[in-house]
Amino acid sequence: MLNTHKIKQDICEIGRRIYAKGFAAANDGNITVRIGENEVLCTPTMHCKGFLKPEDISTVDMTGKQIAGAKKRSSEALLHLEIYKQRPDVKSVVHCHPPHACAFAIAREPIPQCVLPEVEVFLGDVPITKYETPGGQAFADTVLPFVQKTNVIILANHGTVSYGENVERAYWWTEILDAYCRMLMLAKGLGRVNYFDEGKERELLDLKQKWGWSDPRNTDEYKNCDVCANDIFRDSWKAAGIERKAFEAPPPMGPNAGKAAASSSSSSAPMSQEALVQMITQRVMEELAKKS
Ligand SMILES: [Zn+2]
Repeated sequence: MLNTHKIKQDICEIGRRIYAKGFAAANDGNITVRIGENEVLCTPTMHCKGFLKPEDISTVDMTGKQIAGAKKRSSEALLHLEIYKQRPDVKSVVHCHPPHACAFAIAREPIPQCVLPEVEVFLGDVPITKYETPGGQAFADTVLPFVQKTNVIILANHGTVSYGENVERAYWWTEILDAYCRMLMLAKGLGRVNYFDEGKERELLDLKQKWGWSDPRNTDEYKNCDVCANDIFRDSWKAAGIERKAFEAPPPMGPNAGKAAASSSSSSAPMSQEALVQMITQRVMEELAKKS
């Protein structure tokens, strides 16, 4: 038997952490916990997440209709419900607007991989959705292509949503993502970001497998992927206006790395200094030959 009052207290505690971290200004953000087949606890609309009390938490059904509680449920509950519908293992969803992850959401800059071990183990490739006006079903549907393959999603020009087996875990992935985005921005300010190589990335993916954490890169479908090149969600970038601008792509890795490197160095790559000197020397020699 679930202790609903304890779960409501946990929701309030995570609300306090979200607000204390600056992840939700004013009344931003919302938290839900699924407590039954057709029952989801939901934070109220127009309330600051830093000061919630258990009695502020309402209950909605899986269509979003409020079935208990005096305070009106959050308008973004539909987004949470879509995730529960696709993932019966998920018991809690946290949505907020953490500034550093939001900076990537606004720049529509993909999250680089193979930079920080914790991020590879806990998050993996992080997708960015197509932008949609918040609140409605169309907005909720933007996460659908990604829900099965990750536990944290960036919502273009908006925020983040993460989910897990309880409210604390659901929140962790957001906190890890925002800390990572901040580190990336600080490192970029220092001048460069270094990537680890495929061997080291494989070690992390092996650990992940051993601990029972899922990662699409460990499945047959993606076994030949380039482990550090956002292969899991890269196909979605074009439609959502996502493009690498601030951070360079890591060097190609994986079984197809040779091919990728060969094709990218053919025509578009800048000429090396040695090749340039050789070309100029040849031209000068040709000119001299004509004159003589
Ligand atoms: Zn929001």
